[in-house]
Amino acid sequence: MAGVPSVFVRLAGCPLRCRWCDTKYAWSKEAGRRQTIAEIVRKVQEWPCRYVVITGGEPMINSDLPELVKELKDTEKHVTIETAGIAYIADMPCDLMSISPKLSNSVPDEEGLAAIHEDSRLDMAVLGELIDNYNYQLKFVVDVESDFSEIEKTIDKLTNVDLEKVMLMPQAATRDELLKKAPVVADLCKRTGFAFSQRLHILLWDNQKGS
Ligand code: SF4
Repeated sequence: MAGVPSVFVRLAGCPLRCRWCDTKYAWSKEAGRRQTIAEIVRKVQEWPCRYVVITGGEPMINSDLPELVKELKDTEKHVTIETAGIAYIADMPCDLMSISPKLSNSVPDEEGLAAIHEDSRLDMAVLGELIDNYNYQLKFVVDVESDFSEIEKTIDKLTNVDLEKVMLMPQAATRDELLKKAPVVADLCKRTGFAFSQRLHILLWDNQKGS
């Protein structure tokens, strides 16, 4: 939830290789530090925040995720999972599934990677299951205005989307990029009625990596 102080837990590993990914350092499963679930929960509790966001990488490919969510819920945290919607896990006690399906604007330039990305970036069956079984929001990254027709087609294909839960987010890894693209996306939101998703961390801290 934008503006609400939250602790971010970033899990390593993501197969997608999006062109504009701003967390490339988290692509490898070996990235970061190995920590037990108890250590992570202890670390989270050092902060006076009820809200926890589990992000990546792609958290839904991590087999320890259900246990981590359960342990965080046992400490009465509000848990959001950020996912590209490429893998399904049933019955997690999270409060919000923040799903960000990847459009063709995320395909990487390198030929080999582009083929892998194109193959796995959009799994309509998985997206449908996540939407049916979790409290969710559906966030689409907008790079240029013309991306919107692909967003509309994706929503139509999904058939089970609550339009009130759709958000449009400017593609921006830096503050300058965000300031340039945000008005275009805000205008799209005004015309379509979809919500605008702010990238407050980029506005506040530019492209600095958190600790
Ligand atoms: S899905 Fe997310 S973490 Fe993975 S490559 Fe794309 S932007 Fe980066």
